Amino acid sequence: MAEIILKNITKEYENGFQAVKNINLEIQDNEFVILVGPSGCGKSTTLRMIAGLEDISDGELFIDGEKMNDIAPQHRDIAMVFQNYALYPHMSVYQNIAYSLKIKKVPKDEIDKRVHDVAASLGLEELLDRKPGQLSGGQKQRVAMGRAIIRHPKAFLMDEPLSNLDAKLRGQMRVEIADLYQRLNTTFIYVTHDQTEAMTLGTKIVVMKDGEIQQIDNPTNLFNYPVNKFVAGFIGTPTMNFFDAECIEENGEVYLRTATGKIRMNEEKTKKLKEGGWIGRVILGGIRPEHVELANTETDAVFAGKVNVFELLGSNAIVYVETGEGMVVMNTNHVQPQEHGDEIRLTVQEDKVHIFDPETERTITN
Ligand code: ATP
Repeated sequence: MAEIILKNITKEYENGFQAVKNINLEIQDNEFVILVGPSGCGKSTTLRMIAGLEDISDGELFIDGEKMNDIAPQHRDIAMVFQNYALYPHMSVYQNIAYSLKIKKVPKDEIDKRVHDVAASLGLEELLDRKPGQLSGGQKQRVAMGRAIIRHPKAFLMDEPLSNLDAKLRGQMRVEIADLYQRLNTTFIYVTHDQTEAMTLGTKIVVMKDGEIQQIDNPTNLFNYPVNKFVAGFIGTPTMNFFDAECIEENGEVYLRTATGKIRMNEEKTKKLKEGGWIGRVILGGIRPEHVELANTETDAVFAGKVNVFELLGSNAIVYVETGEGMVVMNTNHVQPQEHGDEIRLTVQEDKVHIFDPETERTITN
């Protein structure tokens, strides 16, 4: 259990490159926090600074109220699990798990009990005599976790722990990690570039880009209330559709006018658009594929175009439509097979439209 606080933390590498820029983050006891973002955004660097594997150039790191900047990694009482599990190849699973207790000179009986407890909790009991070379990827991953768990650390730091596994195993291990978190009741900080992993595991998600935090929120809020275009596009698959539209007022109603139609704004969106002085100006609209629908009549089509690709996924289908002004993607469970080149007219769930400032890309209203 640990409370971890990052205050104005910056990392500047020797070549002058700032990988992490003045970030602030408060992680409560027992929270499962995910750092997510595209490759190179600084998430591993942040984790490594918390672990003590990387010096902090500026700012302060506190673990349970104690400043940690100059404390050596082994004295931070934190366990780190990497994507390459770094098991000792010549040692058995038992010896790998027992290793940290052995070097701490914990009595043999106690080591034995703790190794068996950990192995039982991870389903590794049958494998204790094997060497890492005789294990599957998922099993190796579990041994790596076992090595971390046995130390009863204050916090677990995990850097893309599942990225070397195939898709199915990744799914399974994701469930196992969630389960482990429930049982251990310890602070977890988990780095991934995979937004699905982030959304399914985390209770608090930190979205990063170019060394800066874009938004810190729970999965539902990130999905429904992104603070800018980057977060809106990064969270959710297939990714959000973006389109240019003019904000107009007609007979007291406010609309977004697209190339082929209009989207009526509800009271709240109208208020934000008016307050921001957007009437008569071009905005950047965003709509998630699951909020795009087939249009019923000629009049209510917001987008029109030709089907490019139709992907049937079973209970739902993803339809890629070329509108002439870019691709619009629809994720629908009203599966109506479409052929390449079919004419198609689409509408949107009006309340679900997100609106961004086209210059700053910050959200005007969600
Ligand atoms: P990935 O998912 O690809 O691991 P990441 O978000 O974890 O990405 P970091 O490993 O934190 O990214 O790296 C952040 C940035 O810092 C990258 O642009 C990287 O090239 C740069 N960087 C990392 N190590 C050094 C170093 N020793 N010297 C200079 N720049 C570095």
